Amino acid sequence: MSPKVIDYAQARYILSAHLPEQLLADEGAEVAFAGRSNVGKSSAINAITNQNNLAKTSKTPGRTQQINFFELDQTHRLVDLPGYGYAKAPTHLREHWGAFITSYVMNRRCLRGLIVPMDIRRPLTELDLSMLDLCWQANLPVHILLTKSDKLGRGKSSSILHQVRRKLSNEPQTTAQLFSALKKLGVEEARKKITELLLSD
Ligand code: GDP
Repeated sequence: MSPKVIDYAQARYILSAHLPEQLLADEGAEVAFAGRSNVGKSSAINAITNQNNLAKTSKTPGRTQQINFFELDQTHRLVDLPGYGYAKAPTHLREHWGAFITSYVMNRRCLRGLIVPMDIRRPLTELDLSMLDLCWQANLPVHILLTKSDKLGRGKSSSILHQVRRKLSNEPQTTAQLFSALKKLGVEEARKKITELLLSD
């Protein structure tokens, strides 16, 4: 029987895949993180798993170019997808990642939903909207983390959260919250959402 509670601190790195044939077997349940380079995706994964260096945080955007798998327990995993939109990446690499992410999201049967971190100062960029569109096409729930919310005041953050929610109000499977890895804000709320997704059928 699957546990009803997931202990995120148990997360451990399993493997990285560069090609579809290197993915782990398509069984159990996964929730994947996908975001624009440098939005704070690695920091969010580290905060959620309460580990300092599980996902590599880096000042060099676009360095994580593979799909990284982290096991939470025997049947549940977190997946770190390559950051998109790094302008300096060579075109052929960008195309490879785009195709790889698209095929993963469209075809992965054990994928229960996506966490999409976006910098609160620049949410819903064109590339973010393409990512959301892909998730909607795959009929997958999406949860947006408005990251680095410590950079804005409380009033401004909550007004942006409301704007984002309003813009996505036609997509009931898409939710959003405030998040700050630095201040550990929204970490419990994010865990709760991921657990809900991982335990959904
Ligand atoms: P990734 O490329 O999306 O994985 O982004 P990283 O997690 O490596 O973070 C990119 C940069 O944003 C780093 O310099 C982090 O220190 C910074 N950063 C990440 N999360 C936060 C946050 O919650 N608050 C602030 N102020 N900075 C953050």
